[in-house]
Amino acid sequence: MLDAASSPFRVPFDGGFRVADAPTGPAADSPSKDECEDRLDELRDRLDDLQRVLYADDRFSLLLVFQAMDAAGKDGTIRAILSGVNPAGCQVRSFKQPSSEELDHDFLWRTVRQLPERGRIGVFNRSHYEEVLVVRVHPEYLTGQRLPDSGGEGFWQERYESIRDHEKHLARNGTVIVKFWLNVSREEQRLRFLSRLDKPEKHWKFSTGDVEERRHWDAYMRAYEEALAATSRPWAPWYAIPADDKRYMRMVTADVIVRTLESLPLRYPHLEGTERARFGEMRRILEADT
Ligand code: ATP
Ligand code: MG
Repeated sequence: MLDAASSPFRVPFDGGFRVADAPTGPAADSPSKDECEDRLDELRDRLDDLQRVLYADDRFSLLLVFQAMDAAGKDGTIRAILSGVNPAGCQVRSFKQPSSEELDHDFLWRTVRQLPERGRIGVFNRSHYEEVLVVRVHPEYLTGQRLPDSGGEGFWQERYESIRDHEKHLARNGTVIVKFWLNVSREEQRLRFLSRLDKPEKHWKFSTGDVEERRHWDAYMRAYEEALAATSRPWAPWYAIPADDKRYMRMVTADVIVRTLESLPLRYPHLEGTERARFGEMRRILEADT
């Protein structure tokens, strides 16, 4: 099997990423919708097996970061991929506007507190990347952060550097980081917002703020381009996943996750000889205990 590194959607590590080159929909020769669903079913089963050994092995944790424009399908993708995995082995954390307690700390603090334990899969639905995405598009949010120096020349470059260093530190200590940008087109987002207006059961998802935020689309794309180029590195790669077709997006994302886990040296722990030697004795005790 190919490893995740060979995915066409992996953002290069040399800073050369361009949003304009990143597809938002499947290529013409991509699998059909039915094929994507069948493949996703297989990948879900495989992920369930891999999660068991990740847990038993207990040396690595897997951190999956999801970032996207509104209505790109973060929630649905997370649900579709993790629905077969033992809930005790994974945790999903969502990050919205920071609280006053969170604003009283450095910008990595709130996500650090939610990192997955060894042996577990942690999913970040939005993440520390909001600090170089929404905050970059709306620099007025920095006022609330009360930083000693936020106007300097290299402010954003320093944030990227902090993120790279932080993620490298985590990777060295056993956190395997995989980051997904669900790349939806502006037109598809418009259609999804309209469908939210059409269907009463989707009204709760509709927010007038989301429509207003669309006006900043180009600024967001510039922020994504710079952030992904600056922070896709071998120890924490980004994948720019085409998001206009939901089934395809989910299948491709699950494929990257499975390949990443398959590339790890995971194994079930091997019991020491003395412990194993007692299995016969334990069997006799249990068989006699009727
Ligand atoms: P959905 O996609 O289902 O609407 P959501 O993740 O968009 O879910 P919302 O409550 O609609 O959830 O939005 C959360 C908002 O919080 C987003 O607009 C996001 O940009 C913003 N946000 C997240 N982190 C930060 C941050 N560090 N600073 C400022 N805003 C943030
Ligand atoms: Mg929202």
